[in-house]
Amino acid sequence: MIVRNHERIHADEENLCQKCISELEDLYSYLDLSTEELDLLDMPRRSFTVHFPVHMDSGKTKMFVGHRVQYNDARGPTKGGIRFHPELTLDDVRDLAFLMSLKCAVVNIPFGGSKGGVVVNPKELSRTELERLTRSYIRAIADYIGPSRDIPAPDVYTDEKIMAWILDEYERIKGEHVPAVVTGKPIELGGSKARSYSTSLGGILVLEEALKTKGMDKSDVNIAIQGFGNVGENAARILHERGYRVVAVSDSKGGIMNKDGLDIPNVIKHKNDSGSVIDFEGSENISNEELLTCECDILVPAALSEQLNKDNARDVKAKIVLELANAPTTIDADNVFSEKKIMLIPDILANAGGVVVSYFEWIQNLNNDYWEENRVLEKLGKTMVNSFKDVFSLCEEENCSMRKAAYQLAVKRILHAERLRGNL
Ligand code: NAD
Repeated sequence: MIVRNHERIHADEENLCQKCISELEDLYSYLDLSTEELDLLDMPRRSFTVHFPVHMDSGKTKMFVGHRVQYNDARGPTKGGIRFHPELTLDDVRDLAFLMSLKCAVVNIPFGGSKGGVVVNPKELSRTELERLTRSYIRAIADYIGPSRDIPAPDVYTDEKIMAWILDEYERIKGEHVPAVVTGKPIELGGSKARSYSTSLGGILVLEEALKTKGMDKSDVNIAIQGFGNVGENAARILHERGYRVVAVSDSKGGIMNKDGLDIPNVIKHKNDSGSVIDFEGSENISNEELLTCECDILVPAALSEQLNKDNARDVKAKIVLELANAPTTIDADNVFSEKKIMLIPDILANAGGVVVSYFEWIQNLNNDYWEENRVLEKLGKTMVNSFKDVFSLCEEENCSMRKAAYQLAVKRILHAERLRGNL
């Protein structure tokens, strides 16, 4: 359960879980929740571990461990990724499933939250072993997933190829087509248009609403983005296409800056050719630390957790921080930003565009009606703008941070659904 001590959490989400737990503990006392409400939020509805055999290329059979947690389904079937990671624990999965419940509630889509995975280092498997492992895990959990029960998606070290195997195995078991059982599929197998860049675009749509509240125009703002992977690169590309000035970007090797604005399409080409953004002609090389504290109006952490912390928060010059990465800001930095009146758009809202388009994928699959990209984008826009407005108005009403408002909104929506069902 979420208000409890963690012995071991791993990887990028370590800080995410700890921070979320600590924020939620505060929030729970602030909301004055009853014991029944706390108990209900505290426990996953279903949490299980499976052990399953996989035939290895050596000819031997090896047993693997998989988990799945379906945290809360009051608002709809549970939704959450499947990750393959050697240090995965049931505790990790449970916390991440709870966060998925909150994320789906913040953007008001009719899903609960779940998460799952297999304890494995996928880099040590051949492609055929990976496929057999995926299929065996799905056979082990097939009775508990489904379009109106629990819908998996990609997560750490899983991708659309693995989602295609999941789909195929599930359909073999059921003996019929069931595309809505999993999202993040290849478009040819029922995936949605725009899914690949939906996290970045969703964040930008929310950012544009934030700019309106501050009376800032795109021509006035300079933007710095940390991370140039799926999320950071797409964010830079879309911002550039929409006429924003991106003055600094970085990857794991370092960053680049041009105060007049970077030519992002050429930065992308340079990165594809050379493996990094650094040494881009017409820009100055900077360190990642310099990027975070550079002269800019909007800072977009889109790489790792804990990048904004007690050591650098006071030097951040941006007026808005858009958390596209999960948990890039520590609690200390959060407090400094509140003090300095820097608007922080929390990850749970800022990077929810991906799960929103997953929801659209599920709708398209259920109806066998596939949408043009424009329709996906229009609906994503409405969802993200409404979600921002919901969170922002609560933040104004309660005079609290946007992070606290987002958590509060999510918890209230989940409890309301439980009350309507007669569970409270
Ligand atoms: P990715 O692996 O594609 O890209 C990560 C980027 O960060 C790479 O460019 C890498 O070079 C860079 N990086 C690594 N170390 C760095 C450092 N020390 N300083 C600066 N840059 C560094 O990952 P991604 O899918 O773009 O995800 C980025 C973040 O967004 C993660 O926190 C992830 O959990 C979160 N997120 C992603 C999605 C999604 O749809 N992909 C959805 C929600 C949240």
